[in-house]
Amino acid sequence: MGTASRVLFERFSPAADLTVVAVCSVMLILMLFSYVSRGRSLRIFLCVLGAVVLAACSDVIWNMFIRMKNPSLYPTAYVFRVFYHATLFAAFFLYAFYIAEVTGLEKKGLRLVVSVFGGVAAVLVAADIFLALSPAGFRVLENGDVRYGPDLFMFGYLVCSAGLAVLLYRVRGYLYRRVMLGFYSAIAVAYGMMIVQQVFGHSSFTVATFMFPLIAMFYIMHSNPYNVALGAVDVQAMHDMVRTMHARRLPFCFMSLYLPELDAEGASLPEEMQAVVRRFTSDYFRGAYLFQIHNGHIMLLFLKKRNPDYEHRIQNILSAFKWEHRHFQYDYKIVIGESVDEISAKNDYAGLIRSIHRKMKINTVHRVSPDDIDVYDRDMYILSELSNIHQKKDMDDPRVLAWFQPVYNIAAGCYDTAEALMRLQLENTGMIFPDQFICLAEEFGYIHTLTEIILHKTCKAIRDLTKAGCAVGRISVNVSALEMRDEAFCGDINRVIRDAGIPADKIAIELTESRSEEDFRLVKNKIEELRGRGMRLYLDDFGTGYTNLERIVELPFDIIKFDRSMVIASGADERAEQLLENLAATFADMGYSVLFEGIEDESDEQRCRGMSASYLQGYKYSRPVPPEKLAGFFPHAG
Ligand code: C2E
Ligand code: CA
Ligand code: CA
Repeated sequence: MGTASRVLFERFSPAADLTVVAVCSVMLILMLFSYVSRGRSLRIFLCVLGAVVLAACSDVIWNMFIRMKNPSLYPTAYVFRVFYHATLFAAFFLYAFYIAEVTGLEKKGLRLVVSVFGGVAAVLVAADIFLALSPAGFRVLENGDVRYGPDLFMFGYLVCSAGLAVLLYRVRGYLYRRVMLGFYSAIAVAYGMMIVQQVFGHSSFTVATFMFPLIAMFYIMHSNPYNVALGAVDVQAMHDMVRTMHARRLPFCFMSLYLPELDAEGASLPEEMQAVVRRFTSDYFRGAYLFQIHNGHIMLLFLKKRNPDYEHRIQNILSAFKWEHRHFQYDYKIVIGESVDEISAKNDYAGLIRSIHRKMKINTVHRVSPDDIDVYDRDMYILSELSNIHQKKDMDDPRVLAWFQPVYNIAAGCYDTAEALMRLQLENTGMIFPDQFICLAEEFGYIHTLTEIILHKTCKAIRDLTKAGCAVGRISVNVSALEMRDEAFCGDINRVIRDAGIPADKIAIELTESRSEEDFRLVKNKIEELRGRGMRLYLDDFGTGYTNLERIVELPFDIIKFDRSMVIASGADERAEQLLENLAATFADMGYSVLFEGIEDESDEQRCRGMSASYLQGYKYSRPVPPEKLAGFFPHAG
């Protein structure tokens, strides 16, 4: 302290400061020409970058001015020296602001951090100015020696960096552990550099020590396909990882967590949940990686080799999850499995899990079995066929079959309507039923094409039946609520019917209750438009969903189809029978026709006939049949 020295000063080299300016310029260039995540934190980052560059420049300037040995330039040098310290203290302050920002501190915490670090930096700058003005400050002496005066800067450097370390420790809960370690390591490198230069009596690298945390921040926070809070990397990174592990024949395990409610666009895990996921990633397995497949879908991947007791670990994490779930209450699906060569080669674990999800109940845990791989293969095959059907848009595609189940009209005492039911006839699987493909078609957006084909084939069947002299009241076609969201829906339906040249009132549309309010509004207009063209509307599967009577009444349905589950319930329990009877009577009184589905035997029929039924449908009368067998059921006109 307060020593006069020429050595320290003469050892100064501008190389380090110029390097800082160069590296900061490169970072700036990278920011301009590559993808970086932007936002307020990047703007703060740019300010830190600016402060560090200014510090490097002023460091070079004041050193240069003093080297010129021209006493008239010394005061300017002193000013630049103060400015140099001020910019470094500003950089400390901005670092703190930045950390508070990226860790998402609440308003109160943010204000506290900004005022504490801002206050400390302001006091240090003020003290530095005061010292520079006082006779005890930094001066070049008559004999050319340099008197350093009290080393206020070093004191400030230690105080500020200790403050940052404390801040980082306080916010550790907000960041994924690996990210935290990254920060700490970068800071450790900076400290190491500072110590080394002190040992060798140098001061050229002071600004350079500010640069290491900057590089770490830029890399971790802005140029990584990374959800920093979760510590999750995106699907692309998962593909890379699977490819590597497959090539190196390293068996691994995965755990997938799917939260359907959080899978919407723009949704994200609530903060407490992120904390749990972070903890799960780091605490339960050695070297686990977390990937974010979708907003509500994350996947943990770890090597078996590093976790030989993984069965035990999996049990632990599952019980921890069950415990946490009591707080969060989100619906979930968990899939646990081990690497399978076939899936690794295709690099499609996401696809495998999706195929399992389709058959899985909500709030369950599933272990992948060889059967699941078969189902996945089959789904992939069906999907490729569906995609091809969708692309070809051939209304007569022989792979899509319209079968028909006749419906008995009680008042008329004959079959005068039927329901069209879809089947697929595929080369590798033979004929398959809706439970195997409707879900897939809906998920991948092929359902509307299938509806158009079924509608086209139904129109054709009606034409053929009419030509053969059958009296066909109408045939109903099932429509998915998903396709009704499309603006073109009504136009497409009308076009297919018009092209077939049959009257629109020969077609009815079956629709199940819509789940959401939004669906309801979208569906309402379309239903009214179709109804306006003379098509009848059936409410399908009544009694299986969450029935909202108000909504049902608001839509212009003609026929209510009571689901088979209600028919079964009424046969098993007298009160259920009473309830069903009253419900059916109420609908009939309101002007709806009542249809009972799934009548399998005599007793079903006897029960339902007495319950205000207009129509009966079920195996008792006929299973669904191909179109050529349908004519036998209808009475002949005239
Ligand atoms: P859904 O609309 O409720 O159709 C009635 C289902 O019950 C049909 O199954 C039918 O074969 C079956 N069924 C008829 N009578 C009886 C009976 O007495 N007992 C029992 N246990 N079942 C009976 P399928 O053909 O397998 O169709 C299943 C579901 O797939 C349909 O349920 C419908 O939701 C959907 N689906 C079928 N075809 C189409 C279609 O062209 N488009 C759309 N979007 N969905 C379709
Ligand atoms: Ca139906
Ligand atoms: Ca039904």
